[in-house]
Amino acid sequence: MAYEYDDQNIFAKILRGEIPNDTVLETEHTLAFNDIAPQAPVHVLVIPKGPYVCHDHFALSASEAQIADFTQAIGQVCRLKGVQPGEGGNGFRLISNAGADGVQEVPHMHVHILGGRDLGRMLAQE
Ligand code: AMP
Repeated sequence: MAYEYDDQNIFAKILRGEIPNDTVLETEHTLAFNDIAPQAPVHVLVIPKGPYVCHDHFALSASEAQIADFTQAIGQVCRLKGVQPGEGGNGFRLISNAGADGVQEVPHMHVHILGGRDLGRMLAQE
């Protein structure tokens, strides 16, 4: 089944400038902004500017330039926020929720960058 992108999702509206965002970094193909409901002292969302629903859609459909730009933007945001563990930061976690089991709320591909505190185990125990 092919992905169908809903251009009325909230991140599409942010990309069109229809609603505001707290931008951390903008590059040719990528936008990073602070999450509106942060779950850690550092909580940044990184989104591609292209119409991709979730991570596999992006990874398998975007151009190499878009993928490289996105990956580098994540690294840049980690440095801007001072969480990179190799240079004095205390570490971070990347999360990309997809679909129903991933409990993805916004159907525009995004990666959460979380840091600034001990984030605990990767998943809550059931
Ligand atoms: P997910 O469950 O992975 O789809 O996460 C969606 C994230 O988008 C949540 O962490 C929300 O707090 C965040 N969010 C929703 N609306 C906005 C907005 N207008 N600006 C910034 N973050 C938002």
